[in-house]
Amino acid sequence: MHFTSDFNRDSLPFLDVELSRWTDGSLETKIYRKPTATNSFLNWSSHHPIPLKKGIPVGQYLRIRRNCTDERTFRIQARDLRQRFREKGYPDAVLRRAFKRACESNRTDLLHPNDKKDLKSGEIRLVGNFDVAAREVRDILAKHWDILRMDSDINKVISEIPQITYRRGRNIKDQIVRSHFTESNTSNWLQGLKGFFRCGRCIFCRYMSQGRQFKSSSWDKTYQIKQFINCQSKGVIYKVTCSCQMEYVGMTTHELRKRVGEHLGAIRHKRMTSLAQHINNIHGGDLSGLQFMGIDLICPPKRGGLSQTLRKKKEALKKLSNNNDIVIRSADKGGGIVIQNKDDYIKEAHRILKDKSYYEPLPYNPLAEDINELRTQS
Ligand SMILES: [Zn+2]
Ligand SMILES: [Zn+2]
Repeated sequence: MHFTSDFNRDSLPFLDVELSRWTDGSLETKIYRKPTATNSFLNWSSHHPIPLKKGIPVGQYLRIRRNCTDERTFRIQARDLRQRFREKGYPDAVLRRAFKRACESNRTDLLHPNDKKDLKSGEIRLVGNFDVAAREVRDILAKHWDILRMDSDINKVISEIPQITYRRGRNIKDQIVRSHFTESNTSNWLQGLKGFFRCGRCIFCRYMSQGRQFKSSSWDKTYQIKQFINCQSKGVIYKVTCSCQMEYVGMTTHELRKRVGEHLGAIRHKRMTSLAQHINNIHGGDLSGLQFMGIDLICPPKRGGLSQTLRKKKEALKKLSNNNDIVIRSADKGGGIVIQNKDDYIKEAHRILKDKSYYEPLPYNPLAEDINELRTQS
């Protein structure tokens, strides 16, 4: 987020209004436009309904009418406005009509938001989808409305003319669907290059450890990386290794570097995620031992859900859980999964239990009786 400040003894921009002070102490207001503002009006050639396009100059002229205290300033700003509309192809007739309407409006009236006109009692509103035939329907209604009004009973409950309100009709976007066709055999010079690499262009590269294969410190097996993965890859299963051999496996559907940024942010702000807690509690917030590595890509499912992804993650975990030297548990917070060396896990448990302010040693093992009971029962 950027903040800008502006100092001036006699004028002050606030939102879209510039307040100025005159020597006699009176205040003047006018429209404020940033010096960097661009002409962003809708182009007249755009395929929007014509009434909508005609409405834009009306709204803009009324806005400067409302915000300019001085008549002369209003005229100057109106000239500037006309120039900007002309650049976007608005016909002069449309601009003249809008300008005339602003001139005829009373500024004091414009300063008070006009209350929304409530439906008059008995006013009938016809709601339908907008269609090419909508105008004909309106004309037919208008032509024959008098027949309804001739009936003395109906006339009491209907208004003079029917109000027609349109819902948006089906447009091209509603009628087409996204193509699920993907070109699978795109060839480039990177084809055949497999492994995890730094992109060389992001601030997180220094936390990435490159390689064509990865070996877990917890179990003695090396896996080949089957795809090309870098910081900018999307949909990545990644591994975080700490200087203390702790390993964490995570998954992101977004770019890996974005997720790495989130992890580092969580550590910096001492959030309660498992990785942040580990780094903050055990390493005093020192990030230098952290190494991220993408180990597999997940193909986002074509339509909805992450079933495919989750299946892949489960398979990976199953492979890991056969190993007796590691402990897999769900993270304390955040729904991640932590994989830890068993010895470290036990060490960490003892460290926590040693804190006498939270845990108190019992004089005997209360479970012994229960275990005995269970044994005699079975
Ligand atoms: Zn990078
Ligand atoms: Zn660690």
